[in-house]
Amino acid sequence: MTVEEIKAAYSMRDIVGRYGFQPNRAGFICCPFHGGDREPSLKVYDRDFHCHACGAHGDIFDFIRMMDNISFKEAFMSLGGEYRKPTFSSRMAVYQAQKQRAMRLKAAEKERERRSLNNMLISVYRAYMERSEPLSEVWCDCYNALQYQLYVQAELSGLEARW
Ligand SMILES: [Zn+2]
Repeated sequence: MTVEEIKAAYSMRDIVGRYGFQPNRAGFICCPFHGGDREPSLKVYDRDFHCHACGAHGDIFDFIRMMDNISFKEAFMSLGGEYRKPTFSSRMAVYQAQKQRAMRLKAAEKERERRSLNNMLISVYRAYMERSEPLSEVWCDCYNALQYQLYVQAELSGLEARW
């Protein structure tokens, strides 16, 4: 059973009854969480409890936990709780999501590398053009190469916009 199923199956009254408490007509029991509670001051509600003297408060799991001095997990198990192991398909979904994320990060990294190489080439070609005779062979080669790199740059910015 899940936590919700257990809560639906047991009322707070069922649980205090297990420990021998019988709520009075107003729904109070003597509080087991503080000493000398002669006038019952722990109110048993349908789903939880509250002590008006010491402030002890909680649901059915808390009551068992505090009475037996055990963990929530132990209290949960004692009421028939089960931890559901993740199913194969849910594990696969997690694995797929992690893989996709890793691939996205790798692709983004690759784009960053391309962009920085591209920026470097653009500045190299511009520098060569400045240093060479306009319309000379070197200048023309650099001009063509620069046009290509500018085209790549535009393409990369387009990709960036899509990330
Ligand atoms: Zn109390």
